[in-house]
Amino acid sequence: IIIAFITYNICYNQPMEELISVVIPVFNEAAGIQSFLKKELIPTLKNLKENTEIIIVDDGSTDKSLEIVKNYTFPRRITVRIVALMKNFGKELALTAGLREAEGCAVIMIDADGQHPAEEIPRMIEKWHEGAKIVTAIRGSNTTKHKLGSRLYYILMHKAGDKNLIEGEMDFRLLDREVVDDFNQFTEHNRFTRGLIDWLGYPQEYIKVQTKD
Ligand code: UDP
Ligand code: MG
Repeated sequence: IIIAFITYNICYNQPMEELISVVIPVFNEAAGIQSFLKKELIPTLKNLKENTEIIIVDDGSTDKSLEIVKNYTFPRRITVRIVALMKNFGKELALTAGLREAEGCAVIMIDADGQHPAEEIPRMIEKWHEGAKIVTAIRGSNTTKHKLGSRLYYILMHKAGDKNLIEGEMDFRLLDREVVDDFNQFTEHNRFTRGLIDWLGYPQEYIKVQTKD
């Protein structure tokens, strides 16, 4: 409770000191993580006026992912924390671990494989500054494979009773501290991040983005 109170103060009374967290789940991304960090994420974060921290959650990678991120030279003004899980727990639990570790007033989750356009982060933050508690990226255009996959997901979830589901939602989103604090109270082991976030009931904003896969 005390921690929540302090967080609240830092986030809402000192807007200039705002910290933005970026949570990245990583499982066997040795092939591309370096280029994602160097060419996409870090240039975007460097241009923000807010302070930023990166939380990398290595989800039990069996390749050199962990070594690569450990040895990566991050710019000094970006705080970096690496959470190394003991085994592969799956993306949903990796995100959960990352959200618990994140200290920012807003927390952005983004995939490590470059499929989510990091250059859209400023737009997400802008919406957040305008008052959005959740900003979710939705696919503007995509390959047939993904279109089919998300179409199927949409139909199934709709049948399962979730009438508010938006088609094309990605796990590329920004959550306000208030939402993260609520999310962190879930104790479910078998999780589906998107479903749990929807369940919390906060109004969501959406931005259409062009994906790169
Ligand atoms: N990921 C993870 N644990 C897993 C599988 C994936 O942390 O067991 C990470 C992965 O490194 C990537 C993100 O979750 O950053 C999305 O994974 P993937 O690209 O395989 O999923 P898709 O693009 O099919 O949604
Ligand atoms: Mg992917």
